[in-house]
Amino acid sequence: MARPQPRPGVLDIAPYVPGKSKAPGVARVFKLSSNESPLGPSPKAVAAYKAAAARLEEYPDGAVSELRAAIGRAFGLDPERIICGAGSDDLLNLLTHAYLRDGDEVIHTEHGFLMYPIYALGHGGKPVAVREKDLTADVDAILAAVTARTRIVFLANPNNPTGTYVPFSEVKRLHRGLPEHAILVLDAAYAEYVQRNDYESGIELVATSENVVMCRTFSKIHGLAALRLGWLYGPGHIVDALNRVRGPFNVNTPAMKAGVAAIEDAAHVEMSIAHNTRWLSWLTREIGGLGLKVTPSVANFLLIHFPETSGRTAVDADDFLTRRGLILRRVAGYGLPNALRLTVGTEEANRLVVQALKDFLGQAA
Ligand SMILES: *Cc1c(COP(=O)(O)O)cnc(C)c1O
Repeated sequence: MARPQPRPGVLDIAPYVPGKSKAPGVARVFKLSSNESPLGPSPKAVAAYKAAAARLEEYPDGAVSELRAAIGRAFGLDPERIICGAGSDDLLNLLTHAYLRDGDEVIHTEHGFLMYPIYALGHGGKPVAVREKDLTADVDAILAAVTARTRIVFLANPNNPTGTYVPFSEVKRLHRGLPEHAILVLDAAYAEYVQRNDYESGIELVATSENVVMCRTFSKIHGLAALRLGWLYGPGHIVDALNRVRGPFNVNTPAMKAGVAAIEDAAHVEMSIAHNTRWLSWLTREIGGLGLKVTPSVANFLLIHFPETSGRTAVDADDFLTRRGLILRRVAGYGLPNALRLTVGTEEANRLVVQALKDFLGQAA
C-alpha cells in the first residue's frame, strides 16, 4: 500500500480502554473503576504541586535528583539505581523499548495487566500469555513457557485485576529458574497495601541480581494518578540503558515536587493503608455474605464473580450499579467476563455498593 505503515505488531494492539468514569443522568457518581485512592493525596503534595506553578517557564531537572534522593531515603536505596518516569507505564515502555529485539518473547500471566502485551507488540515483541492457577500467577507454568527467545517476564505482584499475589519465596524460585538473558520485571504498584508476612516487593532480589527490576507508582497509595509519576529500582546497567532511551524531561516539575512531599508524608501513607485494610476486609465479608464469590485480595480492589444466569450476570450488575452512580470495572478484556472489579472507596461509597448489590440480587430473584 502506498502510504506509511507502522512497524509490524503495532496494528495488532487492541487499544487500552480505561475504566469508565461517567454514569449519564446520575447526579452523584462514585468512580470505583480505576483503583484510585479514596482519600486522595497528601495535602502537602497538593501544596507542593501548587507552589511549582510559580515557575512553569523553566524546564524540569532532567535527572529528577530531588525525587530520586527522597525515594532513596524512604527505602534505603542508592539513588543511582533509581529511574523515574511518567507513571510506571513510561518505565514499562522504556524496558520493552530498550531490550526487545524483533520476535523476542515477553511473558505475562493470563489475567495480567493489559499494558504488558501492548508494550511488547509496540516494540516488535511477541506476548506469551501463561495460564494462572486459581487466578494466581503460577511459577511452574511461567518457567515452562521460557525459551531461548524470552527477553522479559512481567509479574504484577499483587496482580491487577485479580488482587492475588505470589509469596516472595516463589518469586525467588521464579528468578532462579530464569536464564540470565531474561529480565524479571516485578510490578509492585500495590505493594504498600499488602498485609502478608510472606510478601516482599522485591527490593532485596533487585539488590542482589543483574536481571531483576522493580516498578513502583505514585498513582495508587499516594493518590497522584493525574500527575503520572512512577519509579524503577534496578541494577546499574539496566538503569543506564533506560536513561539513554527515555525522554530527557519525562517527569515534570510539579509532579516531582508533589512526589517528594507525598513520599515524605508517612502519616498520610499510613492512614491510607489503614483505611484500605479496614474496608477491604469489610467489603470482602459483606459481599461474600450476599452469596457472591469474591477472590481474596491483598490490594486496594477486589474481584466479584457473578453467575451466568440471565438477569444476574456481571453485565447486568454493572448496568444496575451504574444507574446508581456506582462505577465498577468490567474485566472481560482481562479474560474475566463474569466478574467486576471494585476499588475500595470511601466509607460512604463502600456502604452504597454493598446495599446496591443486595438490591440487585433481590430484584433479580
Ligand atoms: C495502576 C497500575 C500501575 C501504575 O500505573 P501508572 O502508570 O504508574 O499510573 C502499574 N501496574 C499495574 C499492574 C497497575 O494496576
